[in-house]
Amino acid sequence: MKSIAKLFFIAALLQCSRFDRIQPVEQTAVMMDTVVQIAIYDNQRSVAEVEKIIESAFARIKQIERITNDYDDSSSISRVNRVAGWQPVAIDSELVTLITTSERIARLSSGAFDITIGSVKRLWQFTSEHPSLPEVVAINQALRGVGMQHLRLMGDQLRLAGPGVVLDLGAIAKGYAVDEAIRVLQRHGISDAMVNAGGNLRTLSSELTRGLRRVWIKHPRETHRFFGFFPMDAGCVATSGDYERYFVLDSVRYHHILDPKTGYPARGCVSVTIVAPSAMEADALSTAIFVMGPERGLTLIQELPGVEGVIIYEQQGKLKWLVSEGLKDKFRTI
Ligand code: AMP
Ligand code: MG
Repeated sequence: MKSIAKLFFIAALLQCSRFDRIQPVEQTAVMMDTVVQIAIYDNQRSVAEVEKIIESAFARIKQIERITNDYDDSSSISRVNRVAGWQPVAIDSELVTLITTSERIARLSSGAFDITIGSVKRLWQFTSEHPSLPEVVAINQALRGVGMQHLRLMGDQLRLAGPGVVLDLGAIAKGYAVDEAIRVLQRHGISDAMVNAGGNLRTLSSELTRGLRRVWIKHPRETHRFFGFFPMDAGCVATSGDYERYFVLDSVRYHHILDPKTGYPARGCVSVTIVAPSAMEADALSTAIFVMGPERGLTLIQELPGVEGVIIYEQQGKLKWLVSEGLKDKFRTI
């Protein structure tokens, strides 16, 4: 059972709100298998008005959850997974956006990011009380359905190569939901806000908070500590970490970010934080770069305009980190 306490624990990023000038109107909800926090800074509207706006942003996230949640048999993605291996399926524009972006990030990361990982992920029991390792033969069998070449999207028609191909949007959907929630807030005239869905975060900034906001990166090995921070007024950030969903067997940590080449957890990094032009891209890229590992990951970050990052990895039991050019002067460890 996933308790709320556990869900709080997996939130990878927290925004510091030591704003002396104004207190935000803030609400949290459990959605998309994580804790979603919305904070609004506004000195024009009443609290009741702001709360109504937050409600509509939550409603938008709920809509996206109903499309992308593969634990829900009635979601769009579950229907796609049941049917598209047999015949083409017409999908809605939200799924087109998510799949098209996923195809782009898969290409950029040379296959490290791969939403056809679903068949393998189903074998791993990251949420079980008594997890065990999947059988090697089962992983090898499931890997036959992994690879973006097994997915064809033409217009709104999606076809999967067979019933063994299973889509999993777990590495990108939360970021998209954060972007959409921010759009709802903007449509209501909000200009200073933060939406954080389990470490996928986007902020809007006005003079109310300018120069005051910091993004904190959780310490990947010490639950109640932060590893470091950087200042950010408005922007999009996501963290992928091996401490978010995992189990330990015979002193080995098995976590939820899987290498599509092997079907086993990716071993190069322990935490990857990415700044990107959208929360959807930050979400997908943090997973992609986690799988690519520190060196190749940093190279990709440096190549992409508007993308920055902090990569934490382990070497001989010690934590090391790499920071991209654009964050070098801003990032501080604590
Ligand atoms: P995140 O926390 O954003 O890094 O996403 C991790 C989730 O994405 C996992 O729980 C899986 O549902 C899915 N996933 C795992 N490995 C990959 C991968 N290599 N590419 C795309 N999605 C993945
Ligand atoms: Mg991700």
